[in-house]
Amino acid sequence: MTKPTNKPTFIPKLYCNFFGHDYQVTKNVTYHVKEYTCSHCKKQLTTNSNGNLIELTPKFKEINAILERIHASRMERSKKKTIASSIY
Ligand SMILES: [Zn+2]
Repeated sequence: MTKPTNKPTFIPKLYCNFFGHDYQVTKNVTYHVKEYTCSHCKKQLTTNSNGNLIELTPKFKEINAILERIHASRMERSKKKTIASSIY
């Protein structure tokens, strides 16, 4: 380094450039869709409908919130179904 920098994000980004991002699952949206955050630079990713990892933009956050709600209500329904079928 020739010039000192005051940017606090410089070091984590540099770290990720050298060693790669260290993504941790921060949210399970559905069985297949998850949200990830890099523990160093806080970059966020999500799984899209094709199963690829893409940047988590505000638009995808919105989509994931909707998916999460649909998934939760489906889980709720299948739980009731299991209870009902175990009675008979
Ligand atoms: Zn990173």
